Amino acid sequence: MKIEQVNETPENRLENIADESGLAVIIVDEKAAIAKANNNSVCEILYSSEEFAPQCERFCGRAFEMATAAGKPVPYECHAGLDCLAVPLKTEKPLVAIVGRTFTKAENYRQATERAVAGDWRQFPPTRFFENVLISGSSKALEKTAKSLENSAVEILEREKENGEIAAKNDEQLTKRIAEFHRQTAQGAAEIATAAKKSSEDAEEIAAWRSLFGALFDLTYREACFSIIKFLSQCYSLSSTAWLERRENRFESILATGTLEGQQFKINLPANDKLLFDALEKELALDLRERSKNGEKTHPQTISLFPVSIGGEIQSALVVADDLKKAELKRRIARFCKTVAAQLEILRLREEVKRRNWLAEAIEKFNVGLQNPDTEDFWANLMRVSAELMHAERSSLLVFDEKSHSLTVKAAIGATAERIAGKSEKIGERVAQIVFQNGKPVVVGDVGKIGLPAAPPDWKYKSNSFISYPFSIGSRRVGVLNVTDKADGAAYGEADLELLNAIAPQVAVLIDRADLKSKAGKLEQLSVTDGLTGLLNRRYLEERLAEEIKRSNRYGYPMSFMMIDVDHFKSYNDNFGHPDGDKVLIMVANCFRETLRSADIAARYGGEEFSILLPQTTSSEAETIAERVREHIAATEFPNRAITVSIGIASCCLELNSTRELIVAADNALYVAKRKGRNRVQVFENLQTESENLTPKNAGTQSKI
Ligand code: GH3
Ligand code: MG
Ligand code: MG
Repeated sequence: MKIEQVNETPENRLENIADESGLAVIIVDEKAAIAKANNNSVCEILYSSEEFAPQCERFCGRAFEMATAAGKPVPYECHAGLDCLAVPLKTEKPLVAIVGRTFTKAENYRQATERAVAGDWRQFPPTRFFENVLISGSSKALEKTAKSLENSAVEILEREKENGEIAAKNDEQLTKRIAEFHRQTAQGAAEIATAAKKSSEDAEEIAAWRSLFGALFDLTYREACFSIIKFLSQCYSLSSTAWLERRENRFESILATGTLEGQQFKINLPANDKLLFDALEKELALDLRERSKNGEKTHPQTISLFPVSIGGEIQSALVVADDLKKAELKRRIARFCKTVAAQLEILRLREEVKRRNWLAEAIEKFNVGLQNPDTEDFWANLMRVSAELMHAERSSLLVFDEKSHSLTVKAAIGATAERIAGKSEKIGERVAQIVFQNGKPVVVGDVGKIGLPAAPPDWKYKSNSFISYPFSIGSRRVGVLNVTDKADGAAYGEADLELLNAIAPQVAVLIDRADLKSKAGKLEQLSVTDGLTGLLNRRYLEERLAEEIKRSNRYGYPMSFMMIDVDHFKSYNDNFGHPDGDKVLIMVANCFRETLRSADIAARYGGEEFSILLPQTTSSEAETIAERVREHIAATEFPNRAITVSIGIASCCLELNSTRELIVAADNALYVAKRKGRNRVQVFENLQTESENLTPKNAGTQSKI
């Protein structure tokens, strides 16, 4: 197979950085801009206007001077409310990159729209002005982009090849989507403005819409939905309305007024959005008749459903139970829903960006807390780190014991800990038992409301809220974590559950491993560990891999996988004998243990092939870890002669999301590493840019799967 190296050109590279981050990147020398990528249309227009150019001069015009004087990145907010970072580049000739030109604050963005629609920027044609407006979830994206730019500036400008990778792609893709929806909002605003010119009645309505849209940007998604319902009820005198959110293939109400209040209703949707759209095309709104529970025909209630759709997908919908006799009224409400959709999507995505940053930070903290998983007080340590993460003043960790077929308390924190000696079974008995059996976590905001027997008074709980969370590996359940008495006195909720979902795979593996280790008989270990090296075996690895892929697809976590093969091992055996060969394999396994993090799972895949599963790890992080493993082995003194390994890496993504695809991809990368001369690391994703022909489907595989 022929593999060609396709180099990115320097110009390309700059564009790619700008494109992937959704930010503008401008490179300036002391006189003028020498390169531009993804520039903001607002900047293009303001900088070339006589009236505003002097103001731009005071900010971006001074970026070169500011950054070179400071010798480090200088953040600033310009007169138009855009966030920028002036970054001095480590190039021979002094150059500065202006990164950003993006709105990170809702208030600034709103003011900009107001100025463009009705204020001093009204003079500019809206379609051009809003052609490329950049919005970011946070100023973090700027720093990240500045970093990758600093790292590759020399290459970009000196026209050398560049293989770097941009971190946190997920966030940046979201940022890009936010910008896309913004363009749609702007288009909607322009359409409204044109419509407003036609009639004065419309103009009044449009002014009201505009002021609502402006206010939405400061709200959370849910608050925004509430505001919309309130606004529509007032504006069109509606008495009974509801807001529905899409959950997989049905709508569920999250807010309701009038006769719909208190009714929890669900509407099943056709599998395909197009069918729904077709129905709505003809009707404007869909009329649905409620069926009574016992199937009798009751007084039929007609409700109208207005979809709030974005990019051909229906995410939410407005329901009106009032009799909408006038087609004109239906048309207006439908148009409102159409117009507000992009704006709501921005709010939703903005929350998503924030949530992901927060999750990533929490997971990082958790991993740091568990850096030494093999310490003696392992259970207490695992318990402490989990409790800290959940801000729980009380918590207990129960592990399933296969011999006695029951849950045993391994560690507890808080008041429960004092009673642990004699009454451990009591703690396990309550909710944990049920949770363990069902395999589904339970989040309770208030014990009193769900009809559970109250805890005995001497247990002295401070709050009525708790989470009981089961951990499993495949279909095998390993334990339960209970947390209660949140430090700030608040109730546990969905966000806390999400955090547990994120750390659950690591905790499950840690519990399982520690439990195996502490077992007296070795029999249990045999089924999941490899006899020679003590690493986990292939069967276990594949089980975990399937589980991790599912999690990665579901929650959007990154995940990477490595295949490792000892170089020229056959000749080692031939020259020095099998027993020495075995020693090498044991030593290689020890090298993994010394280099890997607590959550990483190393397994012997077969013969002299190993694999490592890296949960919550991006491909560039995996590459760093693989390099560390490779270097450690190369530097280790083995009997008879030096030993090296070759490593192939593949990461979960849209194209690689099954066990087979991931293994084949990592194996292909490993094969290329061997061909390139061994003792090296190869990332599968990089292969695709090197050769378009190499995909998991048509590339030759090396291992036997
Ligand atoms: P390459 O760099 O291409 O991987 O060369 P290689 O010689 O390692 O190639 P190959 O994968 O064909 O050889 C694998 C060898 O590993 C064959 C066998 O002698 C050896 N081997 C496999 N399992 C064991 C084991 O459990 N113990 C020992 N001592 N050797 C093993
Ligand atoms: Mg081999
Ligand atoms: Mg080999």
